[in-house]
Amino acid sequence: MILDGTNGVIIVNPTDSEWIEYHKKRKRQGPAIIARIKKLPQIPPRTVDGVPIHIGANLELPGPVDEILSAQKIPIGLYRTEFLYLENERFPGEDAQYDYYLRVAEKFSHSQVTLRTYDLGSDKTSADGFLPHEQNPALGWRGIRSMLDMASVFKTQIRAMLRASVLNNLRIMLPMISDLSEFDRAKKLISQAKLDLRRENIPFDRNVPIGVMVEVPSAALTAEQLARKADFISIGTNDLTMYTMSVDRNNAQVASLYNPLHPSVLNLIKMTVDACRKHNTPVSICGEVAGDLLAVPLFIGMGVTELSMNPARIFDVCRLVKKVDSNLVGLLVGSVMSGGSASQVKRLLENFRNTLEKK
Ligand code: PEP
Ligand code: MG
Repeated sequence: MILDGTNGVIIVNPTDSEWIEYHKKRKRQGPAIIARIKKLPQIPPRTVDGVPIHIGANLELPGPVDEILSAQKIPIGLYRTEFLYLENERFPGEDAQYDYYLRVAEKFSHSQVTLRTYDLGSDKTSADGFLPHEQNPALGWRGIRSMLDMASVFKTQIRAMLRASVLNNLRIMLPMISDLSEFDRAKKLISQAKLDLRRENIPFDRNVPIGVMVEVPSAALTAEQLARKADFISIGTNDLTMYTMSVDRNNAQVASLYNPLHPSVLNLIKMTVDACRKHNTPVSICGEVAGDLLAVPLFIGMGVTELSMNPARIFDVCRLVKKVDSNLVGLLVGSVMSGGSASQVKRLLENFRNTLEKK
């Protein structure tokens, strides 16, 4: 079977020629992304009025684009470490994790790397039976919730990340935080891990930033409190859309209702961005919509200056940023936010895109 995720095509029992065609396509894909990122003249790209927009990459595992991302000093805005578990179907020990994170930190030594702690459960699960069967796994024991219950697994991961922070380019990010109390509990465990390392005379970056993912509505609605306490915030629009719209992000039957451009999702994003700007807390967007050319001008209009995305989207987004005037898109925000439906929002953003294309 061939699964073409880019075009949404599945071919069952492919013919020989389809097989050959897709093999060639796959071979070309990595080099094509690399060639485009190589061509980027200015990183970070700047808007027409000179505002730098920091474009980062979302990564899961070491891959063919790492070298070019590193050479172009592109920050890693989201490193999904749960893939370490999903690949091995067990939690690697502290030293194995330390080696891994240190290699990542070294590979991207000229840029910032945001390591997200394990976000297991719901769509990030394996067949090993470790995660319990739940009726509603997306609403269940996932992300930071399971880590707070398995404090020793969490602390092992934190110790490994802290030890790898000696190059001063790592940040630690906590997924699925619902409110301040969860953040406080996680921070307490992180402080204990730091204290242990100090007692053991093991070096680490004492100022390693600890950030929060805002990806559930309760976190967005309490963004003021989180922004006051977190070192940075990253908005995970993939889950934020799922929870706001009550639509399973992986259920094809209700896929038409899953829309990060719905005004309700956009309002939660804006609320979070406003709270961060008020408290001078760095804020980024790291869900898939960060790479959506329709949405990027709107986010810049809201005052977002950091976006992290699939490496395949970086080239197009960088090119778009250079056509955007941040003052002009600021005016776009009001009219878009008052739209009553996702289709209305889409129409307004398409009109705006058409004016940009004429430039
Ligand atoms: C998100 O939810 O937007 C996100 C970036 O995290 P993930 O896609 O890994 O759940
Ligand atoms: Mg998420």
